[in-house]
Amino acid sequence: MANLLLTEKCVRACPYCFAKEYLKESKAKMLSWENLIYITDLFESSNEKKLSLLGGEPTLHPEFVDFVLYLNQRKFHVNVFTSGIMPAKKLNTTKEYLLKISEENLSFVCNYNHPNTSTDSETKQINAFFKTFSKYISLSFNLYQSNFDFRFLVDAILKHGLKKHIRLGLAQPIPGQRNECLTISEIREIAKNLRTQLDILEQNRISLGFDCGMPLCIFSNEDMGRLFKLNKGRVLFTCCPAIDIGPDMQTWACFPLSNYEKRSLYDFDNVSEIIQYFSEQQNDLRKDKKGIFEECKTCTYFEEKLCFGGCVAHLINKQ
Ligand code: SF4
Ligand code: SF4
Repeated sequence: MANLLLTEKCVRACPYCFAKEYLKESKAKMLSWENLIYITDLFESSNEKKLSLLGGEPTLHPEFVDFVLYLNQRKFHVNVFTSGIMPAKKLNTTKEYLLKISEENLSFVCNYNHPNTSTDSETKQINAFFKTFSKYISLSFNLYQSNFDFRFLVDAILKHGLKKHIRLGLAQPIPGQRNECLTISEIREIAKNLRTQLDILEQNRISLGFDCGMPLCIFSNEDMGRLFKLNKGRVLFTCCPAIDIGPDMQTWACFPLSNYEKRSLYDFDNVSEIIQYFSEQQNDLRKDKKGIFEECKTCTYFEEKLCFGGCVAHLINKQ
């Protein structure tokens, strides 16, 4: 699944934002209908029928609802990454049209920050979004400090009847830019804190999916057993290109590597070519050090492709 950036506008300024510089520098470009149709055709002809819509904040695009309806009509599964912050009028229009699409074909991933970091008006809008689209929504949380507490996520899931799943991302560095992210030593600390949070997830049967760049070896065998049970045997420690496509038809591996190299989408004939190109780029970056820890060089998990050695953006930063 690739990430299609509908707009470079956003309603928030999260400290860990990996797109911050990108959003600031831009003149808020918006994806056009012409480009959306080109991308849809390209993906369809490559037998890829899933797209994620991102921003900035994708719901700020004036054609957001129509874009989702169009993709649905073309039989794509659409996944929307959103803050859930929408004025009442926008939420009503979104509700009127998008609730007609089944949960199998539409999902929302809400990037949910601690309510203490939101204004009252933002919290009200997010709660209204949760209430409206509850069954379509799972929560995502980005770790940018090793100290964290999942309770507010669990509370929101139970209170609003959201999907019982949390997507946990690590705030990764953006080489050449400033953003709040975890240092390599802080990444080792995560597992200790996560261990104390597993109880509440287990009690409420809430699964936990890792976004890319999580190292396997920070977890003990006992942690791994609990994670496997919680996630029905699916726990990933990957670093594979996400494939981001901007409104200007530039494409890159993922936001942390967006400064490293961008290519025009028109350079590729199909989706496999894009994936192969950026996978080779990441493999090249991993070639010498392999992963973020010294131990990665001789690690059997790396050889067996069970772990990709954390985020390669750390390796670029080291250089
Ligand atoms: S470099 Fe790898 S781990 Fe880092 S953000 Fe990109 S895909 Fe994810
Ligand atoms: S590849 Fe590196 S990060 Fe992954 S398990 Fe091995 S030593 Fe740890």
